[in-house]
Amino acid sequence: MEQQIPYKIYLKENEMPTAWYNVRADMKNKPAPLLNPGTGKPMTADELGVVFCKELVGQELNDTDRYIPIPEEIRSFYKMYRPSPLVRAYCLEEKLQTPAKIYYKFEGNNTSGSHKLNSAIAQAYYAKKQGLKGVTTETGAGQWGTALSMACSYFGLDCKVYMVKVSYEQKPFRREVMRTYGACVTPSPSDTTEVGRKILAEFPGTTGSLGCAISEAVEDAVSHEGYRYVLGSVLNQVLLHQSVIGLETKAALDQYGITPDIIIGCAGGGSNLGGLIAPFMGEKLRGEKDYRIIAVEPASCPSFTRGRFAYDFCDTGKVCPLAKMYTLGSGFIPAPNHAGGLRYHGMSATLSQLYDDGYMEATTAVQTDVFKAAEAFARVEGILPAPESAHAIKVAIDEAMKCKETGEAKTIVFGLTGTGYFDMVAYERFHNGEMTDYIPTDAELEQSFAKLPKVN
Ligand SMILES: *Cc1c(COP(=O)(O)O)cnc(C)c1O
Repeated sequence: MEQQIPYKIYLKENEMPTAWYNVRADMKNKPAPLLNPGTGKPMTADELGVVFCKELVGQELNDTDRYIPIPEEIRSFYKMYRPSPLVRAYCLEEKLQTPAKIYYKFEGNNTSGSHKLNSAIAQAYYAKKQGLKGVTTETGAGQWGTALSMACSYFGLDCKVYMVKVSYEQKPFRREVMRTYGACVTPSPSDTTEVGRKILAEFPGTTGSLGCAISEAVEDAVSHEGYRYVLGSVLNQVLLHQSVIGLETKAALDQYGITPDIIIGCAGGGSNLGGLIAPFMGEKLRGEKDYRIIAVEPASCPSFTRGRFAYDFCDTGKVCPLAKMYTLGSGFIPAPNHAGGLRYHGMSATLSQLYDDGYMEATTAVQTDVFKAAEAFARVEGILPAPESAHAIKVAIDEAMKCKETGEAKTIVFGLTGTGYFDMVAYERFHNGEMTDYIPTDAELEQSFAKLPKVN
């Protein structure tokens, strides 16, 4: 008889990971190095140290250490909201009448409302340790900015956030949460930076993009003494910090002898997915186990499924190093009617390499289907999901329905990255039937690819 699995599997505090897992150590083909756009040579630690905190540069370049200890100060902060629950979606299974067993790792149980706090606290800690005054960053939907504001106030650091203009206007409450934690929030593009003024001149009336906001935040950091830039996704170091999600998930599953068949995550810059799958991918890379791993991205911003695997700028203003990744081109700006988050033009270099090597799959979902899945999930499981998270829900439901057809009782694990309380304008548009799906044409993408930098 099957052992009764509780609705929620919580690890004990002393079972929480004491080290992050660095999947790059197990990759035969390492992610390609960041390149200096001026020289075309790999960025050195010294060059990166102008923009990023020293210790984080070390983590960014570390392709060899399998485990990196989590400092005690970070673990203490983690304990305020972790371990996060691994939930058996009994009610969703019942509703779908599927033989599939569905689990989700819920990362929305903290005030910032998402998994981003896992990396924010680490990045703020290392900035403080280096004796910096503060950090600058960008935020799109606002979760990263919120998480970083919380982390900075905890360590007494100054926090400057450039927020994509369309979100700044659509999500005034997000902005106020950040200000509550003491952050200074500027809509991007703004006229407070040189690159912002340049972008405004070239694209008057633009609603902004993450790429623009990154350029502004980097310029602000490098032009102010005692400041560094921090980023909430995409980078290797962020995936490393987020491995806490996957390590907890695996430990919880192991306690009940559960082996997933399919692991699903939404993919914007790839940090939650990279973190969730990390230990499972490690087993796969070492040839110990096999799993189906699926990245879900919005049809309106399809980096994996329709992008190019090429060196590209990480930002619109082209001030950042070049990263080899699946990209839509740094000039790509998703349609302003796109509400589902996950708007970044590129994808984590680590995940890009793993995807290119065939270790994972990717698929897309249109936003009306994503909100349908979000609503169906909320009505049975109770949690009001972030639109980003709902991309994973959509595909988890699709896979569970396939199991219903074939009668297979597969075990599906997906990442529920956060809550959607600040996305009610988007939910409103969905409920009113005003939400539309925009899928970029091949011609539009070609136009953007044509501007990819030439790298030999
Ligand atoms: C930022 C965010 C994402 C997407 O970012 P990744 O780096 O791809 O994980 C997904 N869900 C939520 C709730 C987010 O805040």
